[in-house]
Amino acid sequence: MKRILKTIFFIPMLLFRIVLHIIWGLFKIALVLFILLAGLNIYAQNSDSQLAKSITLTENEIVSYLANDNNNANTNNLSTDDYSYYTGMKWPSDTATIYIASTNQTLRSAYEDAIANWNNTGVFTFTMADDESSADIVASDASDSNSSAAGLTETERNALTNQITHATITLNSYYLIENPYYGYTNDRIVNTAEHELGHVIGLDHNDSEISVMQSAGSYYGIQQTDIDKVQALYAA
Ligand SMILES: [Zn+2]
Repeated sequence: MKRILKTIFFIPMLLFRIVLHIIWGLFKIALVLFILLAGLNIYAQNSDSQLAKSITLTENEIVSYLANDNNNANTNNLSTDDYSYYTGMKWPSDTATIYIASTNQTLRSAYEDAIANWNNTGVFTFTMADDESSADIVASDASDSNSSAAGLTETERNALTNQITHATITLNSYYLIENPYYGYTNDRIVNTAEHELGHVIGLDHNDSEISVMQSAGSYYGIQQTDIDKVQALYAA
């Protein structure tokens, strides 16, 4: 009797042990991976090295990929802006006047920070205009849920000389301020303002490296590559 029972249960017990063994193995692999990724993440958050930056970039891409898979309205899918661009367009010199028409305090100070950050690069200088009508650039905001972008930059130019004559920036407060779902921190709002000013200066999108001109997400402020591009544009 005992022998029969043993024979009957031998196969199921063996299968059970094998399954248990596999699950335990997978758990160990997951644990090691988790510890490795957590370590990488801590390193990426606390280091300024190029490797750390590319880890952060990859993380953002993975998060963006997963988010897009689940929800099309997610912040990571939100393009930074609509903008007008013509190759080589620029101001007559590396300076322009700007008037901040925005009355929202967060957006005003984001514009002010972004202007100061560009001015600190030394490659382009914004000076404050006294009134809207005399300014080269008008920086304002609007709440537009129909637009799928966090900003809009319209640049007028002389088609013959390719020189910019006037520009308007409109930050979309619907995404940046009013709707916490899109997760815009103050840093990312400033990055967005720097991005729009980048278009106004004459920069195109740059999705091939870490740049303030990446077309979506607004995860980065002004980088050396952006400074180099402005310098090259106005040296030409
Ligand atoms: Zn843009």
